[in-house]
Amino acid sequence: MKSAKFDHQRMVTLEEAVAALGSADGEARIMGGGQSLGPMMNLRLAQPDLLIDLSRVGGLDGIEVAGDTIRIGARVTHARIEDGAVPGVTGAYMQFVASGISYRSVRNRGTIGGSVAHADPSADWPSALLALGGDVVIAGQDGERRMPLDGFQIGPFATGLGFEEILTGFELPTLGEGAKCGYYKVNRKPGEFADAIGAVVIGSAPRVVCGATEAAPFRVAAAEERLAAGVAEISVADARDMIAAQDPGFDDYDLQIHAVALSRAVGRAFA
Ligand SMILES: Cc1cc2nc3c(=O)[nH]c(=O)nc-3n(C[C@H](O)[C@H](O)[C@H](O)COP(=O)(O)OP(=O)(O)OC[C@H]3O[C@@H](n4cnc5c(N)ncnc54)[C@H](O)[C@@H]3O)c2cc1C
Repeated sequence: MKSAKFDHQRMVTLEEAVAALGSADGEARIMGGGQSLGPMMNLRLAQPDLLIDLSRVGGLDGIEVAGDTIRIGARVTHARIEDGAVPGVTGAYMQFVASGISYRSVRNRGTIGGSVAHADPSADWPSALLALGGDVVIAGQDGERRMPLDGFQIGPFATGLGFEEILTGFELPTLGEGAKCGYYKVNRKPGEFADAIGAVVIGSAPRVVCGATEAAPFRVAAAEERLAAGVAEISVADARDMIAAQDPGFDDYDLQIHAVALSRAVGRAFA
């Protein structure tokens, strides 16, 4: 099947793109790498009247360290991150995550901003970035605002982005050399969407995320407390209890694979 008819506008400035979103007749969508939007349009799950293409908008593909923050533009591709464009310990963690997203041709075009804005519950960046912590940077009619990654995704395919807003980038912590990170994705073969994700970042404080659930990824408070107390291992049985205490909606199989992902992510962090 092919997409329904749509208009396509290539914007040059962010202001133009925001104005076009606000003034469009019918449904307008931002296009990042098109790696999720394209298939959705071909299946007619999405039928926007207008695609607002950001590929020529300047300032959205930068990677910049500013003190204890790394700024990453929304249009940075998975492939650039896989190739080591993000420096330091934060970059090494992100490099590992990026290398597990689909295959190289998808990573060449798919963007980190598109992935987080799309908020597929099985996607990698929403969980991986929630474990890092930091802010999402957003542009709208009233200028720029920031939202913490904590609480940005509110459900499957649902975020705190307004209809007339554009995700322009992220401000993430620059992890020190002593920080520990672990990421584990349960999937049927390498590169596929996740059935379960465990993500662990121990920087100034431990952040432990259970992802690829039926809703938004969430932080596992009991696991964070355990790691903060100096424990360097969480068994699958304990992870099951911790996850179930926070979200009793898992069936037995799902609980098991999410517990395995969490336990192995902790193992990788301390390997
Ligand atoms: C075969 C295949 C396998 C895949 N496997 C994985 C996988 O294992 N893990 C994984 O995480 N992902 C996977 N993906 C998804 C891929 O990572 C996409 O790149 C990503 O989900 C969307 O990024 P994009 O830049 O292509 O966004 P697009 O497809 O262009 O857009 C997706 C949605 O986000 C919106 N959007 C895009 N950019 C912005 C922005 N800056 N501001 C506001 N809204 C925006 C669009 O309007 C659209 O609604 C896979 C995709 C394919 C085709």
